[in-house]
Amino acid sequence: MPDTYNPYDNMLAVLEKAAGKLGLEHNDYEAIKYPERELKVSIPVKMDNGTIKVFEGYRVQHSSTRGPCKGGIRYHPHVDIDEVKALAAWMSLKCAVVDIPYGGAKGAVKVDPAELSKGELERLTRRFTAMILPLIGPEKDIPAPDINTNAEVMGWIMDTYSMLKGYAVPGVVTGKALEIGGSLGRPEATGRGVSIITGESMKFFNMEGINKRIAIQGMGNVGGVSARLLYREGHKIVAASDVTGGFYKAEGLNIEKILAYSASHSKSIAGYTEEGAESITNDELIGCDCDVLIPCAMENQITEKNADSIKAKLIIEGANGPTTVEADEILVKRGIHIVPDVLANAGGVVVSYFEWVQNIQNLMWDEDQINETLRKIMIKSFYQVLQIVKDKNVSFRIAAYMLALLKLSKAKKTRGVFP
Ligand code: GLU
Repeated sequence: MPDTYNPYDNMLAVLEKAAGKLGLEHNDYEAIKYPERELKVSIPVKMDNGTIKVFEGYRVQHSSTRGPCKGGIRYHPHVDIDEVKALAAWMSLKCAVVDIPYGGAKGAVKVDPAELSKGELERLTRRFTAMILPLIGPEKDIPAPDINTNAEVMGWIMDTYSMLKGYAVPGVVTGKALEIGGSLGRPEATGRGVSIITGESMKFFNMEGINKRIAIQGMGNVGGVSARLLYREGHKIVAASDVTGGFYKAEGLNIEKILAYSASHSKSIAGYTEEGAESITNDELIGCDCDVLIPCAMENQITEKNADSIKAKLIIEGANGPTTVEADEILVKRGIHIVPDVLANAGGVVVSYFEWVQNIQNLMWDEDQINETLRKIMIKSFYQVLQIVKDKNVSFRIAAYMLALLKLSKAKKTRGVFP
C-alpha cells in the first residue's frame, strides 16, 4: 500500500463529517475516535526446513461499548497496524449499522500464506492464537475469517483456545466448519448480503431489468458468492476479476463456468477462456462500461486516480474500505451512488452473530431460517440508512456512519465513563 494512504485517517475523516452532520458534541464521540486496545505480537514459527522465522501479528479492539468485540483475522504480506485499526473501527460501525450487539475488532498477521506449507500455516495460527489469548474469548472478543483465512484456520484457533482452556469453546470464533459448531449459511453470508443490498439498491434506483450490467472486482469468497447469486437471479455480470486480472464480455460472462474453473485452478481465474470474453486488468475493470460496480477485493482500489474513469452509476462496496475519501468526494460530486462497506458487506458478521448465539446456547438453526433472518436484517438496515439519506440529504456513506455513530454515542452516554 502506498505510504500516503492511511486507512485509519480515511475512517476518521468520514467519522468527523458524520459527527458534524449529527451535531454531536466533542464528548459524545471523542472516545470512538480511538481503539480501546492494540496488541502487537512477534510470532516465532518453526519452518519445515528447521529454521525459526518470526512474523508480526496484531489484534486491535476498537470498541466494546455495545457488546463483545467482533472481527476477522487476515493474513496478508502488506498489512500494517493502521489498516488493522481502521478495519477494527469499521467493524464497530458495521455492527451498529445492522444493530447487532457487538463492538468491533480486527486481527492480522503480516504473511503471504501462499509461501507457507500447510504445517507452517497451522503452527503460525496456533502460536498467534496463544499470543492473543488474553484478549479473545466468547464473552469478550470473537475472531472470524477475513482475507486469506478460512474455516480451517478458524478450526485451529478454536482447537488451540479450547486445549488451553481444557474444554471445547466453539463460541471463541465464528466461520468454523459445521462439525465443530459452524453455522449453516455462514460461508456464503457476506456475498449473500452484498447480493441482497445490490438487488435492493437497483430497485431503489430503478435499475432493475435484464439489461443492467454488473462488474465485480474479486472472485474470492465475497465476490464469488455475490457473482453467483446475482447471476442466478438473472443479472448480467459483464466483468469479473481476481488478483491475476479479469475478463469483460458485454453480453455477460458465464459465472458458473468461471467459478468452476477457479475452483479447479487453485482459486485463480488466470487462463480462463470464454468466447467473446476479453482480458482486462483490475484497473480496467474499475473503469469498465457497466451500470453497477461491486469492488470485493481490498482497500484502496477506487482512488482519485481512477475515480473519474468510473462509468457505473451505482457502487456497492463488498470489500472493506475500497474507496478513498478523495475518490468518494469525486464520485459523490459526479452523482454516483455508493452503498458503503459498513452496510453492504455486513452479512458476514450478521451470520457470525447467529453462529455465536447458536454456540453459546447450544442451538442449531436451519439454513432457511438463517438466510431469511439475514435478508430481513439487511433490508431493514438498508431502508434505515436510506431514510437518513433522504431526510438529511447526505450520501449513503455519511448516512450509514451517522446511524452507527448515533447508536455508539448513545450507548457510550448510557454506560458513562469509568471511573
Ligand atoms: N471479516 C468479515 C468482515 O469484515 C467478517 C467479520 C466477522 O464475522 O466477525 O465483516
